[in-house]
Amino acid sequence: MENDEHDAFYGCPVGETVSRPSQNVPTLKGALHTHTSCSDGELKPQELLEVYHRLGFDFVALTDHDFLLQPAAYDNVPDEFEKVLVFKGVEKTVFARGYFHVTELHGDSEMLNMFAHPADYNLPVDRIIERIQEIQAMMPLHAVEVTSKGFYTAEFDIDQIPYPKVASDDCHTREGCGRAWIEVACEKDRDAILRTIKAGGARACLRSAAHQPAFMENGEAICG
Ligand SMILES: [Zn+2]
Ligand SMILES: [Zn+2]
Repeated sequence: MENDEHDAFYGCPVGETVSRPSQNVPTLKGALHTHTSCSDGELKPQELLEVYHRLGFDFVALTDHDFLLQPAAYDNVPDEFEKVLVFKGVEKTVFARGYFHVTELHGDSEMLNMFAHPADYNLPVDRIIERIQEIQAMMPLHAVEVTSKGFYTAEFDIDQIPYPKVASDDCHTREGCGRAWIEVACEKDRDAILRTIKAGGARACLRSAAHQPAFMENGEAICG
């Protein structure tokens, strides 16, 4: 089990801890962290959903920045767009001796907090581990991204950061969509997806161009 999070990047099966309600649950491809014109993103929400729909995604979380997102900004966004399940989330700004980002997603009864893009704070790994612990004292944390704008940041894909690891685009443009995503084997239901991520059942996946060769010894092995 010790290398589960790391192995997830190499296309290993989801962990045994994930409950499977039936034999033939679908594998769902999802974007956990995106930006739209509701904050500093280029695309309107519907345009963003159209892009992910064409890329074959099953679910997309809209996670615009809390300091720019108007309260009713997502009111006209459908809960499902061309069979793409939509999470209306937010990227929170959290202070822990500096500002950090935590993306928050809600299901019907489940919620998920993800520590976002640890490479983007220009801090060494041990400092990031300290800040994650400080934030964990303020709010529940359920997952940690091991990507920055859709590119793999292997230095944070380590057991010393004891959370399920996830990958995301954190896209702000059309071109930024589809570099990194997760895959989950569960029912297409918001709560089921969030529970699967919390249980460590998300496979972090990268398009090959999103690998950083300096970190990757096995550049072939991507899922999706
Ligand atoms: Zn951010
Ligand atoms: Zn972001």
